[in-house]
Formats: sequence, structure tokens, C-alpha cells
Amino acid sequence: MKNIPIMTPFFTKEEIEQIQEVLQSGWVAQGPKVAEFEKAIADYEKVQYAVATTSCTTALHLLLVCMGLCDKHEVIVPSFTFVATANAVEYTGATPVLAEVYTDTYNINVEWVQELIDNNYDNKDGILINKKNGKILFGIIAVNLFGLCADIPKLNDLANHHGIKIIEDSACALGASINGVHEGGFGNPSCLSFHPRKSITTGEGGMILTDDAELAASLRQMRSHGASISEVNRHSSKGYLLPEFNELGFNYRMTDIQAAVGVAQIRKYDYILTERQNKAKFYDSLIKDRISYLKPPHVPQGYLHTYQSYVCMIDYKALGLNDVEKGNEIRNKLMNALEEIGVATRQGTHAVHSLGYYREKYGYKPFDLAGAYECDRMSLTLPLYVQMTNDDQIYVIETIDRIIKNI
Ligand SMILES: *Cc1c(COP(=O)(O)O)cnc(C)c1O
Repeated sequence: MKNIPIMTPFFTKEEIEQIQEVLQSGWVAQGPKVAEFEKAIADYEKVQYAVATTSCTTALHLLLVCMGLCDKHEVIVPSFTFVATANAVEYTGATPVLAEVYTDTYNINVEWVQELIDNNYDNKDGILINKKNGKILFGIIAVNLFGLCADIPKLNDLANHHGIKIIEDSACALGASINGVHEGGFGNPSCLSFHPRKSITTGEGGMILTDDAELAASLRQMRSHGASISEVNRHSSKGYLLPEFNELGFNYRMTDIQAAVGVAQIRKYDYILTERQNKAKFYDSLIKDRISYLKPPHVPQGYLHTYQSYVCMIDYKALGLNDVEKGNEIRNKLMNALEEIGVATRQGTHAVHSLGYYREKYGYKPFDLAGAYECDRMSLTLPLYVQMTNDDQIYVIETIDRIIKNI
């Protein structure tokens, strides 16, 4: 029996050497290593400023707070995403308005959003007001899911037209690009994750990217309790004066121990990325040759997919089924059978509108956002990691086909 996990990090002796250096320095909280890691990521993504945090969830929360989001606002969030995207909006008191996604790229459906805005908001002096509840539409969180950018150029046009903001949730999308422009390079702030399920990891960790100096300064201050250096402090060389706390800040600081791992990881990201892309292409060809009921991830022209996750859709119609719920039963049976013989798979992610908290609070029904719901029910993530061999991949595909033929 094989044991094929869904994902496993790629560490070598460099991570150990980096951690050793930090431990020996005696400085383990946020310090020079975090600054080095921030610079390395900013350079990689070609942005001015990078602000490290404890996770992508806290990165999103911190960013939304610093941009001024509060309970008088609404924010459009694609429903097919990790729950943290919507939760970050909830933390601020604002309301996430869940949106439909495309079932081929899994990203936010721009036409659907355009229609939502046209039908539900009035433009009063350049501000979009919800006709029903009077709340202000602040912006859209564009999730660059699984390593593929959403249609950011089109979303930016829409946002410019309506005077709203775009924030990119790039938890999965380090290095993703459209026509050579990296995520984070479209003029919007973006947030990364370094959880072990993402392309590179620091155990837990996140980062906010921006070209806005003022926003970056505010993020740095607010991630560290809102501490500011007073005039007295600034003009004094004495170290014993405490900073001032004029804002309600957080402790969202990454440690230098985590950043040490990050520094080693980003140095080998080109290698990791190439390996992931090659393995994804190999899956594409195996599926094309052997399995007609699996749709491999779609990559639009000009997009660079980093394959943080390799997420397929099971085509329930090709299996002779006529609805999503029946298809879902087969998908789940397949995943269980795979698990039993040591092949880990997962659904892509969930449809947030179908999760208890959001369902109860906002009264969503599964088919209110039918595309997101279909992605939730029919998506299948295949194992993909640097150490995986061609034989492992062939085994995964052959096993899936064998199980499906038996079901
Ligand atoms: C993983 C993920 C997050 C949360 O990242 P953490 O670092 O675990 O907080 C947020 N959004 C998306 C789209 C994700 O995939």
C-alpha cells in the first residue's frame, strides 16, 4: 500500500541552517530575519512593501482594519474560498456579500458581480449604497484561488468605474501572474499565506503586499499593538521611554524563527514552482489520455498557474448522473475509497454560503450560488508535492479510474 499525502513541505538543510542562525543570535521575536524575509518576498513579487503577520487570516484582518473597513460597509467575497476570507470581513463588523464563481477557473464571476452591483446599489455622490439596508459597498476581495489569478484587470476596471476597492486574497497565489504581472502588482494590496498547505511555508505565517507607503506604515504600527514612537521618544536617544498607544492595535507579529524558514523557502521557490508546474502538466496529460469524467484545472491564455493545489472537477453528467447531489455521493465514495488505500484527496475548498455560520446568519440556500455549490460538491484536489514521483501520479490516476469503474 502506498502512502500519498495531499501535500508535504519541501525542506532541506537550508531551513535548519537559517533557524540555527536565529537561535544563536538570541533574537527570536520579530526582528532582522522578518525584515529579510519581507524584503525577499517583496523582491520576488516586485512590490514596494511587504508586512509579515502570523497568518493570511490575520493579514486580511489587519489590512481591512487599516483600510478603514467597519460595520457600515459591505464587501463582495466569492463564495468558493477558504472560510477565512469571509471571516476576516466579519471580524471588522462589515458584511461579506457572497458572490458566484466560474466553475472552470473557480474564481469570482465578474459579470455576476457587475449585475449584483447594478441591481442592488444606488450611486449617491460616487458612493455605492445598498438599496435595501443603506450600507456602503466598500469593495471586492478577489481570491486568486489555488494559484490562479482571478480576472484582476477586469475587476480593476469595474472597481475604478464604481469607485470601490479591490483587495487580493493571494493565500494560494505566491508567484501567480497575468501576462507577466505578478499578483500584488495590479495596484491592489494583497495577502499571502505560509501555511503548510500553501506553496512555501513558515509553519504558520502571512504577509501583506502593497505599493502604498502610508498603508504599509499603518500596517506595521497596527500589527504591533498600534505602538507609535512619540515626539519625545523620537528626539531622545534614551531607550527606556515606552511608545504611545493611540490606536487599538493587535499582536500579529511573525517570529524570526518562522521568518528563518521563510527565507530558506523563498530561495528555492523557483525550483518548487517548476516542479509543481511539471507535475501538474503530467496530471493534465494522464487525465486527458485516460479519464473522460475528470476536468483538469483550466488556465486562461496569459495566466501563470502556480498549482498550489491541483483541483479537478468531476463531470457528473459524463458519469451518467443528472444532478450535483448524486454526483457528490459518488465523489465522496471515491475520496473515501482512495483514503482507505493511502491516497489523500480533498474537495477544492468549501462554498462559504453553505457553511453553518453564514447559512444561519444570512439565510443562504445551497443553490442560491449554484456555481460555487457545484464546485464545493464536485471538486477533487489531487496530491501534488515536490517529492512526488511520476509513478505516484500514475498510481493516483489509475486508482481513481479503477474505483470509479467499481462504484
Ligand atoms: C489558506 C487560505 C487562507 C488562510 O490562510 P492562513 O494563513 O491559514 O490563515 C485564506 N484564504 C485562502 C483563499 C486560503 O486558501
